[in-house]
Amino acid sequence: MTSTLDVAQSLKKIFPPDRVATDPVDIATYSFDGTPNLNAAPAAIVYPETTEEISALMKWAYEKKVKVVPRGSGTGLSGGCVPIQSGVVLCTVRMNKILEIDEENLTVLCQPGVVTADLAKEVGKKGLFYPPDPGSMKISTIGGNVVENSGGLRCLKYGVTEDYVMGLEVVLPNGEIFWTGSKSKKDVAGYNLKKILVSSEGTLGVITKVLLRLIPPPAASKTMLAYFPDMVSAGNAVKGVIAGKIIPCALEFLDNVTINCVEDHAHIGLPRDIGALLMIQTDGHPAQVEEESAAIETICNQCGASGFKTAQTAEEAEQLAQARRMALSSLARRKPTTILEDATVPRNKVPEMLAFIEQVRDKYKLDIGTFGHAGDGNLHPTCLTDERDKEEMERVEHCFDEIFKKAIELGGTVTGEHGVGCIKSKYLPMMVGETGMQVMRRIKRSFDPDGILNPGKIFIDKD
Ligand SMILES: Cc1cc2nc3c(=O)[nH]c(=O)nc-3n(C[C@H](O)[C@H](O)[C@H](O)COP(=O)(O)OP(=O)(O)OC[C@H]3O[C@@H](n4cnc5c(N)ncnc54)[C@H](O)[C@@H]3O)c2cc1C
Repeated sequence: MTSTLDVAQSLKKIFPPDRVATDPVDIATYSFDGTPNLNAAPAAIVYPETTEEISALMKWAYEKKVKVVPRGSGTGLSGGCVPIQSGVVLCTVRMNKILEIDEENLTVLCQPGVVTADLAKEVGKKGLFYPPDPGSMKISTIGGNVVENSGGLRCLKYGVTEDYVMGLEVVLPNGEIFWTGSKSKKDVAGYNLKKILVSSEGTLGVITKVLLRLIPPPAASKTMLAYFPDMVSAGNAVKGVIAGKIIPCALEFLDNVTINCVEDHAHIGLPRDIGALLMIQTDGHPAQVEEESAAIETICNQCGASGFKTAQTAEEAEQLAQARRMALSSLARRKPTTILEDATVPRNKVPEMLAFIEQVRDKYKLDIGTFGHAGDGNLHPTCLTDERDKEEMERVEHCFDEIFKKAIELGGTVTGEHGVGCIKSKYLPMMVGETGMQVMRRIKRSFDPDGILNPGKIFIDKD
């Protein structure tokens, strides 16, 4: 059975009417995510409310050989939840309950559709801290964060989502339900299936429950901005801070184009004529915060900083952090199409990578703003363009090809946090080699022999 009509009618027999959507507005809404230039219509959308409903959906899909594409909030930036081979979109947003906050073991158990910021807020009420803070955290779901292994501003010091995942409940493509991991801090029972499912981009199983580790919050923090005359001196300061054996909570970079877009949009009072700025946060014991922030200011000055500002109040700190959080949305206002990439390099290569981005930007005569988690070596060169201009789009493609090749040459990777999806699949073999690709294909087949879950992602050809 493959026809769209058959799929929709059959689903309506299995699920109550409010769980299935097929009208044109819903179909259009679920045809894209945050990735530019990409859309594809599903046959239907299903909104399950329990693990058992997801299991029933997968059993039906497995039997009928219907493709299923899991989806959280659709903020992904590599086309992960776009149904490029049609089929059914399985949207988890109604599975948004926090099931348990365990204050003795410092864990939280939740459903996959919980919004990241809501989870952080709820555990915060109990005096606990969930550090991963993707820029999309007010919208993205924990399920999406887990399978994309999302990072964020604080991940330099605190690690990415995988560092907090202790256990997962998963529905396999054939509908079987299994649990991997435990509340034990130490657990080496068999293969580490959790780690395989983290970063699996919805291609191996549907995550239906997530057990996360929590930590106590830092006692103090300080937020600073350092201004630089050019990108490379800011890059040198990043290298200097890390080489100085300081790991701030956040070490974020904005270039001149991004600074001006943020100012146009948010009027924070950033200087418009500087080449780049770093937004730096330190946190921990008050004495450590004082010591680290003084050392960071010295390193920035040694690297040619033209100005340094420290937030005096919590409100001002939030405003400075906002400058970074608003980078993408501010850039996106400038031209009809925004193409954001996340080439990532070892941290000592940040100055070289920034210089290369400037070079290819000029070579291909493109409007590129660069920002990113510079302390992680994770840069977001963002091309502001117009997809209707075919000639310019070709230049954009050549430019990003060169950026990815350079990232690999410098010992980095083609994606630091946005995943492969269907956008980066052509670059993946360059990164992992043919043997690596074969191992990944074997893993995919062992979970999903018929290739029904999120086809066309990670691998170039049909699964
Ligand atoms: C403005 C903006 C800022 C961003 N900032 C960051 C950032 O700082 N760091 C970062 O890492 N990313 C960032 N992102 C990217 C994105 O928000 C993350 O990848 C996020 O984790 C996606 O969550 P989601 O709920 O929107 O997932 P979706 O986009 O809905 O799906 C993403 C992938 O997860 C799969 N999936 C979703 N739920 C499940 C489930 N329950 N089981 C199995 N598979 C599932 C989908 O099939 C898809 O492959 C940003 C995006 C935007 C638009």
